[in-house]
Amino acid sequence: MRTGRALVGGRWRETAERFAVTDPATGETVAEVAECGGEVAVEAVDAASAALPGWRSMPAHERATIMREAAGLLRERAEAIGAVMTAEQGKPLAEAAGEVVAGADHLLWSAEETRRVYGETIPSTGADTRMWLLPEPVGVVAAITPWNFPVSMITRKLGPALAAGCTVVLKPSELTPMSAVAVAECLTEAGFPPGVFNLVTTARPGGFAKAVMADSRVRKVSFTGSTAVGRELIRQSADDVKRLSVELGGHAPVLVFPDADVAAAAAGVARSKFMNAGQACTSPNRIYVHESVADEFVGELVKLAEAVTVGNGAEPGVTMGPLIDDRAVAKVRRHVEDALAHGARPATTREEGSGRFCPPVVLTGVTDDMLVCREETFGPVAPVLTFGGDADEEVVARANATPYGLAAYLWTRDLTRVVRVCEELQFGIVSVNGAPLAPPQGPFGGIKGSGYGREGGHHGVEDFVEYKYVSVGLG
Ligand code: NAD
Repeated sequence: MRTGRALVGGRWRETAERFAVTDPATGETVAEVAECGGEVAVEAVDAASAALPGWRSMPAHERATIMREAAGLLRERAEAIGAVMTAEQGKPLAEAAGEVVAGADHLLWSAEETRRVYGETIPSTGADTRMWLLPEPVGVVAAITPWNFPVSMITRKLGPALAAGCTVVLKPSELTPMSAVAVAECLTEAGFPPGVFNLVTTARPGGFAKAVMADSRVRKVSFTGSTAVGRELIRQSADDVKRLSVELGGHAPVLVFPDADVAAAAAGVARSKFMNAGQACTSPNRIYVHESVADEFVGELVKLAEAVTVGNGAEPGVTMGPLIDDRAVAKVRRHVEDALAHGARPATTREEGSGRFCPPVVLTGVTDDMLVCREETFGPVAPVLTFGGDADEEVVARANATPYGLAAYLWTRDLTRVVRVCEELQFGIVSVNGAPLAPPQGPFGGIKGSGYGREGGHHGVEDFVEYKYVSVGLG
């Protein structure tokens, strides 16, 4: 049993009340964590405000050194932190350790970017004026992160915020707080000045949100999670006119055209669909396959689905862990049952799993009106739909017919089609022929109901920068 504490102003904080964290594979309690009420959130904002002047004025090279050190510690401890993640989130050890390394890469990339937060000079109209654009940190940032990628979702916010010179109060998901504690330990040991990074753990997220939204010292809230909570935060942010970045839900389409490398497409879909047991915002939710290659594609995908070993992520050889909780399992079952009741057929033959274990399911005969095509499943269900003819516009229109707009995938060898379809897809990110979506230098983020703001790339850092325009008269 582990104990998780909050981190406020460089000090680890115990609280009288704690909340339990359970292993989704076994249902056992694996940790007890400090339950911080709104007053601790306010203390964390006090600490972040007090640390802001020192951090923003510290030379970028020095800030970068501390951030690089933290990234190095994360990378060194990838396996140990991965084990903590597996125990509270369920994903297999190798996937968890891989996420910690990816999280470290985000921090490292931001550390480098710290030195490139440039301003501008603008040619002025008159000879006796000068115009400058000065980059300044937005100020104290509150970050709220989800449970599905418990480390990388943190470093994707933390890195750019710290690079821009902001100080941060983080509230991780109540389901995965120990991964956040492990990140906080690395940051503390790396030498961040007290208060630059604060961790507030709570299983009552509404109280945290209320406290930071009411505090005008918090100038930005960066949120990743469900669209429902994102909407609520957008509403709450209005009174104080806070800046927001909201990375919300998704409903990713995949388009497999008749000229695609079908085996590669099936392998790519299996990778992105079954990673993290389908619990990813970029997970393929509607797989549109041209009817001329549908049988071959489904055959390949079923082989890969049936090769997945489902079980406790801490056990060797397991390639897919449990779903996060019973609600998640119920949602997967509801989506599959609805599809089957409306005429879809299972192409996979495995039994339904027990407890929170859900083996991958490939469905064929799926139509756009089924629940699985309208709601985010967040589980290992691969719904295959077909399209015919050679009018790409029709399938692109079907792909776009969703309130979400995060990620889309397409598979084709035709360059003209790549250009045309990429331009028509209404999504923030498009992956062509399996190229990765979330390297640190890529500006990751959605449009429409998937939110706004970008994480990664210099755009990610700019999300935490205010540009002050200075107009100077020389007299
Ligand atoms: P969630 O919205 O339930 O929780 C996300 C975070 O918000 C958690 O820290 C939670 O404690 C907090 N929260 C919950 N209620 C809150 C409230 N009333 N006020 C303030 N904070 C509150 O989402 P989840 O189930 O943890 O994550 C899954 C969702 O996140 C999916 O919809 C997924 O698509 C989305 N997601 C999006 C991205 C992206 O980059 N777009 C990445 C990962 C996950």
